[in-house]
Amino acid sequence: MTTQRRREKAAAAAVEPVGAGKSEAHGYEFGGPIGAFVLTFGLPFVCYAFAFLCNDVSGCPAPSLLSPSKLFSSPALSAQSGRQHALATLKRETGWPGVGGLISVEAVLGTLAWYGWSLLLHVLLPAQEVEGTELATGGRLKYRFNSFSSALVTLFLCAAGSWALGPNFQLWTFINTHYVQILTTNVLIAYFLSTYTYLRSFSVKRGNTSHRELAAGGHTGNIIYDFFIGRELNPRVTVPYLGEIDIKAFMELRPGMLGWILLNLAYTAKQYKSYGYITDSMLIVNFTQTLYVLDALYMESAILTTMDLTRDGFGFMLAFGDLAWLPFTYSLQARYLSVHPVILGPWYALAILGMGLGGYIIFRGSNSQKNAFRTNPDDPSVAHLEYIQTASGAKLLTSGWWGRARHINYLGDWLLSWSYCLPTLFSGYRLTNSILTPGSRLVTTDGMAGWAIPVTYFYLLYFAVLLVHRERRDEEKCRRKYGRDWEKYVAKVPYRIIPGVY
Ligand code: NDP
Repeated sequence: MTTQRRREKAAAAAVEPVGAGKSEAHGYEFGGPIGAFVLTFGLPFVCYAFAFLCNDVSGCPAPSLLSPSKLFSSPALSAQSGRQHALATLKRETGWPGVGGLISVEAVLGTLAWYGWSLLLHVLLPAQEVEGTELATGGRLKYRFNSFSSALVTLFLCAAGSWALGPNFQLWTFINTHYVQILTTNVLIAYFLSTYTYLRSFSVKRGNTSHRELAAGGHTGNIIYDFFIGRELNPRVTVPYLGEIDIKAFMELRPGMLGWILLNLAYTAKQYKSYGYITDSMLIVNFTQTLYVLDALYMESAILTTMDLTRDGFGFMLAFGDLAWLPFTYSLQARYLSVHPVILGPWYALAILGMGLGGYIIFRGSNSQKNAFRTNPDDPSVAHLEYIQTASGAKLLTSGWWGRARHINYLGDWLLSWSYCLPTLFSGYRLTNSILTPGSRLVTTDGMAGWAIPVTYFYLLYFAVLLVHRERRDEEKCRRKYGRDWEKYVAKVPYRIIPGVY
């Protein structure tokens, strides 16, 4: 087959979902196969870089990184022994456990127990049974939602453990002592799950009656791209005694989202154990992030209309994002504060809290307004809003929150993310041995202030990129779906995310 012919075949496959009645044209996203390759094999290294280069052994960042010329060269060393010296210094300063130390049996068992516990609560607790959006092949899947009550049960048990044992509650010490190994286990689970769902997607048949279908943009024929973006739209698996589990919906909100909060709480316990108090900065980070997670769990059924559920297949992008990237990079601020206890004072604390709550009001207000309008346009809370009636039958709001910008909800989400990062202030610390109290360590910002900003403000920057990219993807989808009606909407609501600016 010629290259041209192969390309045509791939493009045709990307246009037509298996057994689809409707079809959507899709090009490559995320830089195509090369981008998919880089992200699939590069992202875990980013997680490890954060884990090792910002640490409780030498500092955040590891101090030698600030003077690389000294790290590599010394008059007494040849070029080769200079490199060895640099490597040895970095290993010492990062607490490098060796390749074998990246994983341990206890961490694997502990992490699997966490997934098992999440699964058990999902199956055993009373749940809301909800139907998903209509599939391209017709029909709807049923979902079982109880992640909020599962979170409450888990958090209640954590509170009881902390009440009884304080910061020595075994869950907190386990997380803090096996952090890197737990990260590795989650990375491996993400690779395993995406390989499993990729291979299994080849058993999806045209015209099947079990509502199995391929994601419209996920079967281009390029292995690495399809593996990354996700081939099957809603992979499900039947677990003996537990019944059918929707892998994507389960992974989206359960082990990783609540895992993020458990990591934060473990860091809070660590701060308390080290210093004997919990700082206002740590409380704000915990409060705003827990609010965000509990909100997502409480509004669980809202995920049914997100592009993750309706459009993206379950591949490495979602598996890794849900299980490793989200919990381990979103919790970097609390991890930082567990070693360097920043005290903000009431005014600064209130200002950051105000910013977070302002962001939350925009985020929740806009998302709820759209949900209420889409569920029942005659609801008194939304009946007065203006809208465009599209030829497809759907209505697009043009006043209220959605009249200010086409993704005003992303602005709220982003403002909220400022309140996660600002509590770390102008971050950076180094750890030294105390001369006065032998055996104890001192944390100092001497020469380090500002150098940890790429770590503690990473979320802010990454999230801005994610939201702009997501907005572009959604815009493209809506343009395809609504055609000229979308042009009318854009003319009425010209700003994408920030009213008057962007
Ligand atoms: P949105 O909730 O922004 O929904 C976009 C969809 O809404 C469009 O595809 C369209 O769907 C519909 N729509 C667009 N404009 C209008 C309008 N004017 N009136 C009515 N309906 C409209 O999608 P997301 O899934 O991106 O986001 C959900 C939330 O999750 C966001 O608040 C986001 O910030 C958050 N999020 C957080 C992440 C994190 O890592 N923390 C990651 C991703 C998202 P239709 O085809 O039905 O018309």
